[in-house]
Amino acid sequence: MVIDKYKRPRAITLEKQVIVLPPLSRVNMQQLILPVLLASCWTTCAGAGDWCYQSQFSCDHHCNAPDNWDHAHTDCGGRNQSPINIVTRKTLRDERLTPFQFANYQQAFRGTIKNNGHSVQVGVPILSTISGGSLSTSYKAVQFHLHWGNNGGPGSEHTIDGEQYPMELHIVHMKHHYTDLTTALSDPQGVAVLGFFYEKSNSANRKYEPIIKALQSIKAANGNTSLQSISLAQLIPPEQNLTNYYRYKGSLTTPGCTEAVVWTLFENPIPLSMEQLRAFSELKFQDGKRMVGTFRPVQPLNGRQVFRSGGAVIMASSALLLAAMAAALGLSQSN
Ligand SMILES: [Zn+2]
Repeated sequence: MVIDKYKRPRAITLEKQVIVLPPLSRVNMQQLILPVLLASCWTTCAGAGDWCYQSQFSCDHHCNAPDNWDHAHTDCGGRNQSPINIVTRKTLRDERLTPFQFANYQQAFRGTIKNNGHSVQVGVPILSTISGGSLSTSYKAVQFHLHWGNNGGPGSEHTIDGEQYPMELHIVHMKHHYTDLTTALSDPQGVAVLGFFYEKSNSANRKYEPIIKALQSIKAANGNTSLQSISLAQLIPPEQNLTNYYRYKGSLTTPGCTEAVVWTLFENPIPLSMEQLRAFSELKFQDGKRMVGTFRPVQPLNGRQVFRSGGAVIMASSALLLAAMAAALGLSQSN
C-alpha cells in the first residue's frame, strides 16, 4: 500500500508543566488523574515510530495509535473513513444491490500466508473476480487478511448496531483492469472490499484448518509460509447465504486510509470455534507482544448513507409481520 513519508507530529508542550490541583474529592481526583497520566504518556511517546493499534500503545512502545494516524497520513483524518458502526434502522434498501457473481472463487490455490506485523495476510495468486451487486465493473481479488480481538473477544472493525464481532475477514479486490493496488487507490472506486464477520461456534470449522495450522509457523512478525491448497469459496458462507449485505463508500482501515473503497459487509457470519479464534492471538507484533486488538475504532459517518440489499434484517422482520397478519386473517376467516 502507499506509505506516506513520516511527518513529525505537532509539538506538545505539556512536559514539565506544573499542574496545581485544588482540593478535590477522591472521585474527582481519580477522574483527573487518568487523563493527566495519559497526557504525560502521550507527551513522552509521541514523536517516533510507525502506526500501531491502540492495543500496542504504551509508554514503552513509541508508535502512532489510531487517533494520531492522521499526523503521518493525512487521509486518515478524512470525512469518508472506515470502519463504521452500521445502524440497521437507518440503512436504506436499494433494489440494485442484487446478489454477486463470484467467478473462480471455487478454484483451489496454494498461497503464501504472512504475518506482516499488523495482521495475517494471504495473497491471491489466481484470477478470482466479483461482479454484480451494483458494482460498476468487475473487480479481481488481490489479497485477504483479518482483524481480531483478544482470545475471541470483540475484534471486528465494523460493528452492527453497536455489536462488535470476534473477527472480520477482508477480501480486497481492485477493478479488473488495474495491475497494482497503488493505481487502483487513486480511483475513488478503484477498490472493493468484501467484509465478513465471524461468530463463535461449538464445533471447529474444518475449512479453516489450513489457515489455523499455518499460524503456528508465522508467529513472529514478517514470518511467512506456504498454505495448503485453499479456495476463497471455502472461507466464506455458501453463495445462497450471501444475498443480505450492507454497502457504503469508505476507506482502507489502515494507513494511508485512502478513500477509494466500495465496502460490502455480509450479514451472515462465518462460524469458528473458540480454539480457532484463540489461535490468532498467538501471533506476535514486531515488538514480540501478542498480536491482539488489530482493529481500528469506528469512524464518524459524516452524513454518508449506508444501503442494504434486498433481504436484510429489517426485511426479515417485516416478513414475520406479514406471516403473522396472514395467520390472523386465516384465523378470522375460519371463524
Ligand atoms: Zn482490513
